[in-house]
Amino acid sequence: MKPATRLIHHPGAVCAHTGAVSPPIYQVSTFAQTAVGENRGYDYSRTGNPTRAVLERTIADLEAGEEGTGLAFASGMAAISACLTLLETGAHVIATAGLYGGTYRLLTRIWEGLGVATTFLDTGDAGAVEAALTDRTAFVFVETPSNPTMRITDLGAVADLTHRRGALLVVDNTFMSPWLQRPLAWGADVVVHSATKFLGGHSDLIVGLAVCRDRDLARRLGRIQNAAGAVPSPMDCWLVVRGMKTLGVRMERGQATAARIAEWLAGRDEVEQVLWPGEADLPGAGVHRRQADGPGAVLSFRLREGLSGETVCNHVRLWTLAVSLGAVESIITLPARMTHLPYAPEDREALGIDDRLVRLSVGLEDADDLIADLAAALDAAGKEERVP
Ligand code: PLP
Repeated sequence: MKPATRLIHHPGAVCAHTGAVSPPIYQVSTFAQTAVGENRGYDYSRTGNPTRAVLERTIADLEAGEEGTGLAFASGMAAISACLTLLETGAHVIATAGLYGGTYRLLTRIWEGLGVATTFLDTGDAGAVEAALTDRTAFVFVETPSNPTMRITDLGAVADLTHRRGALLVVDNTFMSPWLQRPLAWGADVVVHSATKFLGGHSDLIVGLAVCRDRDLARRLGRIQNAAGAVPSPMDCWLVVRGMKTLGVRMERGQATAARIAEWLAGRDEVEQVLWPGEADLPGAGVHRRQADGPGAVLSFRLREGLSGETVCNHVRLWTLAVSLGAVESIITLPARMTHLPYAPEDREALGIDDRLVRLSVGLEDADDLIADLAAALDAAGKEERVP
């Protein structure tokens, strides 16, 4: 089946008991046992829940993982944290510089203290990854495109290097979703998602997902899922399952509108640079075209010197000023002051995440309305220009 069909006719789409065309929400904590040590497949909802199982089977199907390799967590961060729990004290991680601030915070403020050191570098530079790999490196953790500067990593090349040193490649695929990019096909060992974003798609839930290359790794991660217990509610699992049915049409529409906005922004005098994988001059754009089926619906732009991203964000009326992305409503974010606050100011500056960098997550509104709203906000920024 092609992806568009698989989104609708996903595993468990039709209830085997009643024929209901939407999976039942098993809002339950425990399951009556038939005898001591005997049950009907489920015993306690932290360990497993039938609604969660539909979500876990569906994400494994979409990421082209084997049956039994998908796992759902209470948030994207819980999914990433569970992966890091696979590591032992003394392990080393290589991670994409400038990745989501929450992941940076988890690595530097929690895992560093537990004896897991991380080297942040441009994973788009395969030579830099190769040079940083050590005998202790257990994970290479990649976001591609990275958030919000759109650095592109060649997944196949980095998977080869990583595996040669016996480490695992973990890819955060939140920005692309399996509709546009399937990292397991390029050699990743684990794919993680904030399903809070495009998979759920409606800004009404917090859920994380992981899909492993093989069942053995999924069993190990599943043990952590059960033991640590950061699992999503059955209701939230159902909402993600429902949201995923429209993933393809939402991604295609958001991406088409993003293309119009990117072109329009590039022609504006206030804008110095548009960062989007659909821009031919973005470093790595060719790699992205090869490994993904489209540029996606998130783009960033840098204002020219003297203009303030804060002014733009404070003057939009239609765009929602918020952290998050991948929703039906279009969202505008100032990463330096919002999603990337956990970074030290000098690190943010070095990464180009400054007050002139604005991130857009394009939703489903009319493109003309979105552009008109941005135009008014750019005009406002132009009027407040600080001349050095
Ligand atoms: N990964 C990326 C790329 C994100 O943008 C986010 C959240 O913004 C996360 C992970 C964390 O996901 P959650 O908020 O569901 O914990």
